[in-house]
Amino acid sequence: MTEVLSYDVLIMGSGLAGLRAALSAASVDRSLSIAVISKVQVMRSHSVSAEGGTAAVLFEEEGDNRESHVYDTIRGSDFLADQDVAERLVSNVPYEIYQLDHWGMPWSRRSDGRIDQRKFGGYSFPRATYAQDKVGFYEMQTLYDTCLRHENIHFLNEWFCTSILSDGSSFRGFTAIEMKTGEFVIIKSLAGIICTGGAGRIYGFSTYAHSSTPDGLDMAYRKGLALKDMEFVQFHPSGILPSGILITEGARGEGGYLVNNQGERFMKRYAPEKLELAPRDVVSRAMIREIQEGKGFKHETGIDCLKLDLSHLGAERIKEKLAGIREIGIKFSGIDVINEAIEVRPVCHYMMGGIHTNIEGETEMSGLWCAGEAACNSTHGANRLGANSTSECLVWGNITGKHAAEHAQRVKDRTMTLPEQQIIEEEKRIYDGIFHGRGEMNPYEIKKRLAELMDSKAYVFRDGNTLAEALKEVKELKRASWRHVDDKAYEYNTNYINVMEIDSIARISEIVLVGALNRQESRGAHARIDYPSRDDVNYLKHTLAYYSHEGPELRWYPVQITRYAPVERKY
Ligand SMILES: Cc1cc2nc3c(=O)[nH]c(=O)nc-3n(C[C@H](O)[C@H](O)[C@H](O)COP(=O)(O)OP(=O)(O)OC[C@H]3O[C@@H](n4cnc5c(N)ncnc54)[C@H](O)[C@@H]3O)c2cc1C
Repeated sequence: MTEVLSYDVLIMGSGLAGLRAALSAASVDRSLSIAVISKVQVMRSHSVSAEGGTAAVLFEEEGDNRESHVYDTIRGSDFLADQDVAERLVSNVPYEIYQLDHWGMPWSRRSDGRIDQRKFGGYSFPRATYAQDKVGFYEMQTLYDTCLRHENIHFLNEWFCTSILSDGSSFRGFTAIEMKTGEFVIIKSLAGIICTGGAGRIYGFSTYAHSSTPDGLDMAYRKGLALKDMEFVQFHPSGILPSGILITEGARGEGGYLVNNQGERFMKRYAPEKLELAPRDVVSRAMIREIQEGKGFKHETGIDCLKLDLSHLGAERIKEKLAGIREIGIKFSGIDVINEAIEVRPVCHYMMGGIHTNIEGETEMSGLWCAGEAACNSTHGANRLGANSTSECLVWGNITGKHAAEHAQRVKDRTMTLPEQQIIEEEKRIYDGIFHGRGEMNPYEIKKRLAELMDSKAYVFRDGNTLAEALKEVKELKRASWRHVDDKAYEYNTNYINVMEIDSIARISEIVLVGALNRQESRGAHARIDYPSRDDVNYLKHTLAYYSHEGPELRWYPVQITRYAPVERKY
C-alpha cells in the first residue's frame, strides 16, 4: 500500500521563498502542521549562493525614496512588470530586511552601526542590502535557524516531488519519491505553495546549482496551469570561464569595471550615465557586440570573453567586501582579482518567467500558491534588476505563507478525498514510462544536447531562423527514445531523479523557444536581431503557455499599468 502523509500546509522547496513562507504560515496559527519538502538538504538550495544583496529602500532621510525603487524596477523590466506588483514589492521589502535583522541576520553595517547598502545595476540609489558577498547564505541560515524553533514546521529533505494532486479545481497534495528508500509517497494537504526556484539548468553555461531544473514549473504545466513570460531569460554579464560561476554585480557596485582587448572601458559608449551599472540586459548586449566587433579576449578554452577589472579597488577592500568572489576566482579560474582582471562572459542567471500567479501569489488552482523564482507574479517583467529577486522571495514567501495558512484554517473541517485515478496515472508515468522505460539513447546525452541548443540558439541575441531550428531539434529530442534508468536500485537512485529532471528540461526548453519565436519584438532580456525594436502596440502583454500534447498553446495576458506610461529606456 502506498504511504499517505498528511499536513495542513505543504511547501515544495526550501529556498528563501519556501522558508519564509513556512515562518509566515506558522505565525498565523501554531496549531497548523506545516511541511517543507525539498529534493536537496535545506542549505543546498540555490538561494544559498546569492551573493550581492537584497534591494530595499532604507534611507529615506538620505534621499532615497520608494517611488524611485518602484520606477527603477518598472523601467528595468522594460515596462512589462505589473506596476501594482512592483509597488507591493517596494512597500513590503523594508519590513523583511528588519524582520531578518531581528531574527539574527548579520547584515554588513556602517561604522555607526546602521545597516549598510551598496550600489547595484539599474538603481538610482545604493539599495542592495548585503552581508559581505554571501547574502543568500546568511539569509538562508537565519531563516532555517528560525524555522527550527517552530515545532510545527517539519522538513522532508531529499524527497523528490513528481506531481500536483487536485480534485479538478482544488489542490489536494503532491506525489513524491522519498529518495532514501525510493518509496512513492502521497502527501496530502489542505493548502500548497510551490517554491521550486528557477529553471536555469535548461542552459549549460549557467550560474545555477545543478539542482535548478524546472520540475516545479513542469508539474504545474502538466496540470494545466499557465506558465507566464518564459521567453525572458536573464544573462548576467559576469560568469567566469569555463564554469559559468557568478561574479556578483556587487563587484561592479563596489567600483569594478569591464574592459575590452584595447583596454577600453567600453560601457561608456553604451550607457554613458550608468556605465557597468546599467541593467544586466544592457551590459550583456554590449559585451556580445564588443566580441562580435573583434574586441574580445580569447580564454584558454577558446571561448570569447571580456575582462572585469577589480585590481584598482585594493586588497583591503576586496578582502573585506568581496572575499567570496576572490576565493571563487582563485579556485575556479586561477586568478586572484586583487592582482589581475578576470575573464567573464554573459551567463544564464535568472528566469523572469514562471508559474502564472496574481499579485497575491495565487495560482489558477484553488488552494495552491507559488512564490520565489518559480513564480511569475510579474514583478520583473522582461528584465529583473539585481538584488530584486531575494526581495521578491522574502515578500511573496511571507504573503503566500499567510494566505495558505488562512485557507487551511478555513477548510480544515471539510472531508477531502484523494484523486485515486491521478495517483495511479502518476505511478504509471514515472515507473512504467521512466524507471522501466525502454529508451535506447543515453538521457545524459539528451541533456547535454538540449543545453547546447539553448546556449547557442536562445542566448543574448536571438533571431527567428535560429530559434525555429532550435525548436525543431528540441521537438526531435523530446520524441527520441531515451527515457530509461540504468541504475535499478531503489535507495538514493540519483540516476532516476536525473532522468525525471531531464524530462522536465525538454518540455520547458520548448516553451522558452516557442515564446521567444512568438514575441516578434525586442524587450528587456529578449533581443531579436530580426525585430530590434520594442513594439508596445502589439506586444505590451504577457505570454501565457498552456499544456497540450503537441506543445505549448500560447495566449496573451494584459499588463497592469498604474502610473507609469512606457517610455524609451536610456541609461
Ligand atoms: C549564483 C546566484 C547568485 C544570485 N545572487 C543574487 C543576489 O545577490 N540577489 C538577488 O536578489 N538574487 C540573486 N540571485 C537570484 C536568487 O538567489 C534566486 O532567484 C532565489 O534565491 C531563488 O529562491 P527560491 O526560494 O525561489 O528557490 P531556490 O533557492 O532555487 O530553491 C528551490 C527549492 O526547490 C526545491 N525543489 C525543486 N524541485 C523540486 C522537486 N521536484 N521536489 C522537491 N523539491 C524541489 C529544491 O530542493 C530547493 O529547495 C542569485 C542567483 C544565483 C544563481
